[in-house]
Amino acid sequence: PTGATTRSSTASAEWFERAHRVTPGGVNSPVRAFNAVGGTPRFMVSGRGAWLTDVDGHDYVDLICSWGPMLLGHAHPEVQAAVQDAVTRGTSYGTPSRSEVELAEEIVARTPVDQVRLVSSGTEATMSAIRLARGFTGRDVVVKFAGCYHGHVDSLLAEAGSGLATHAVAGTPGVPAASVEATLVLPYNDRAAVERVFAERGSEIACLVTEASPGNMGVVPPEPGFNQFLAETCARHGALFVSDEVMTGFRVSRQGQWGLDGAHEGWRPDLMTFGKVMGGGFPAAAFGGRADVMGMLSPQGPVYQAGTLSGNPIATTAGLTTLRLATDEVYAHVDAAATTLSTAVGEALDRAGVPHLVQHDGSMFSVFFAPRVDRVVDFAGASSQDTSVFRAFFHAMLDRGVYLPPSAFESWFLSAAHDDHALQHVIDALPAAAEAAAQA
Ligand code: PMP
Repeated sequence: PTGATTRSSTASAEWFERAHRVTPGGVNSPVRAFNAVGGTPRFMVSGRGAWLTDVDGHDYVDLICSWGPMLLGHAHPEVQAAVQDAVTRGTSYGTPSRSEVELAEEIVARTPVDQVRLVSSGTEATMSAIRLARGFTGRDVVVKFAGCYHGHVDSLLAEAGSGLATHAVAGTPGVPAASVEATLVLPYNDRAAVERVFAERGSEIACLVTEASPGNMGVVPPEPGFNQFLAETCARHGALFVSDEVMTGFRVSRQGQWGLDGAHEGWRPDLMTFGKVMGGGFPAAAFGGRADVMGMLSPQGPVYQAGTLSGNPIATTAGLTTLRLATDEVYAHVDAAATTLSTAVGEALDRAGVPHLVQHDGSMFSVFFAPRVDRVVDFAGASSQDTSVFRAFFHAMLDRGVYLPPSAFESWFLSAAHDDHALQHVIDALPAAAEAAAQA
């Protein structure tokens, strides 16, 4: 296609080779590698606003935003100043400190949880929520949906068993069959499947865990009323409804996905998990919920859970500052930017004749390339896309200075720093990328 700039990635390739010698696959989290799209991941040296700069000196408009956290963009001056100030007072005390209380207060004020416990990653948050749900109910079975990701928790790294069986099989070597024996995996958005499993096993189910709006199989929003249906079904059977808002929390609205459905429909989850935005780019996450359930946690109750760096003063300062700056105007801007961009992507693909679906949940959106369904409602639909089309699109965008998530099964993320200049840079890259996709 015309206008292709083959940007050198010599320095990134050298760093990637060095990384490979000391780290499996050269990365510390698998999706950062380009296994799904081929090629060399770029090693970044700095980020500012909507932009990242790599070791070869190239600039990219960042549509990953650290996989969600950077709601305000990179190196936000006020977040930086707050963090720098906090660092002058030491980096970890191992005692209670003020900023962790203030961050917990901010989360409790924005969401329907009564109390939260802070942890350091989304994985820890869901792992702890599952343990708490089991401890509270005295039951073992966990229900989850295919295509929902909740971190690398053994019992949640489960895939649907074959055929009609809903029992799970381990999603990776290293997870004993026993760890997923009590996990049931259902198709997302499938009310009948949920009803069936609760009818059969309701009294054994400790909790149902779901992404509040899935973003880990591409963006696959809940059908209207689906989360309410899940909350009510759980309540009817004495199971807890665990809503994972690690990705959506404080991103798709001030109150996360719950602000888009539960707040209006009049229900609330029993437990919720948070991460990403609430850490402001540092390792901070949380789980929270009903006071009677949270009261079961150690040291108040018998369910053990702990963490050396939980509530770390630097991470909680970054998260608190980020949330305080995440005003209604910020959400309005990010929503508008997402509409502008997703519309432009759809138009460019239409013009090039590339079959596709753009799906949204608030400011999160993703593009399914050449799917064999009219609407993606579950993992089977998401999996029907042609990933080779995405691969061609991805590399054409990368060549033109746009860093997309390197997988067809990911949400694209924007920030308050994605201004007209950054959006126009992405829009200008679209025609050639759509053409490349058409030829894939
Ligand atoms: N839950 C959801 C919905 C997520 O998107 C993620 C991370 N992508 C996690 C949990 C796990 O979070 P972490 O990577 O911080 O462990």
